[in-house]
Amino acid sequence: MINVLFSARDALWPQYQPVLAAEFAKQELEVNLLRETDAPETIDYLIYAPARDDDDLGVFTNLKLIQSLWAGPDKLLRNTTLTQPLARMVDPGMTQGMIDYVMGHILRHHLHTDTFAQAGEWLTDLAPPLPSERTVAFLGIGELGMACAVAARDYGFNVVGWSRTLKENAPIACFAGDDGFRAVLGQADIVVTLLPATPATENLIGVEAVAAMKDGAALINPGRGELVDDEALLAGLRSGKLSGATLDVFREEPLPLDHPYWAEPSVLVTPHIASETRVATASAVVAANIARDVRGEGALYLVDPALRY
Ligand code: NAP
Repeated sequence: MINVLFSARDALWPQYQPVLAAEFAKQELEVNLLRETDAPETIDYLIYAPARDDDDLGVFTNLKLIQSLWAGPDKLLRNTTLTQPLARMVDPGMTQGMIDYVMGHILRHHLHTDTFAQAGEWLTDLAPPLPSERTVAFLGIGELGMACAVAARDYGFNVVGWSRTLKENAPIACFAGDDGFRAVLGQADIVVTLLPATPATENLIGVEAVAAMKDGAALINPGRGELVDDEALLAGLRSGKLSGATLDVFREEPLPLDHPYWAEPSVLVTPHIASETRVATASAVVAANIARDVRGEGALYLVDPALRY
């Protein structure tokens, strides 16, 4: 019997509890699934999407693994009491949702939907080219970025990807390093950022990146707010160098009402809704990953504390 503590917002417990119980049963694991405990030293596994930032994780002295319900590990890594192995969420339902969001906004920029909306002008010059005549660059081609890149490629776009390590035998043309970064930006009509927030990715979309982008390019950022130097992006949009931006994530969330993004006509703000963790598919992943660890097969999706993702 293992003790598993579910630590997340109250509203999530009634949704997850029955589904997790069924998934643990499928894994043939005997689990004592708890909502709270007076004996944190008895907890073996923590299923985690903290409602607060200052949990003391040091009290879980026998914890084998923290299984996050979030894809991005940045917020959890800021907790200085975290010493245990941390697995991030890789959820097929979340991936499907992200494909939906990214494809929807790629098509919005591709079709000039926002420019036609209430234009009051007969803008025949903006008849869209074929997707094969547009290049979409994905900065970050991990679980989410690569799935979206393949969806865009399958739709017919010319797709390129950029990551920290160069991908061999990938389904799209891949680049890495500083030269790769400039090469990818220089050819993209639409840039999608699906990178984690780390010291190495902070302000990646800054003055130099904006200058390296094609004239008239658009940015879609469902990754993290820290990836973007807001001043540099706004300057690129206001000068007409960039045609528009779809932003889902911000340094401060909710985005303050006086933030210039709200008033910028070429920016669409969405409230960190690009893709949520889905209870059914995520519960199956959680149970399978804990089962792997219990059986000594090693948990998947472990965050590297040095790389911060
Ligand atoms: P992932 O599988 O860990 O992929 C991360 C990708 O970023 C990898 O391709 C990685 O390169 C690349 N990368 C990391 N550091 C880099 C650097 N310094 N330079 C170049 N490339 C770098 O993560 P994921 O599951 O796809 O998720 C990506 C991010 O999406 C999350 O961290 C989270 O912030 C965000 N997200 C947002 C939402 C939302 O609703 N808005 C939902 C889910 C996730 P390698 O392949 O070489 O390792």
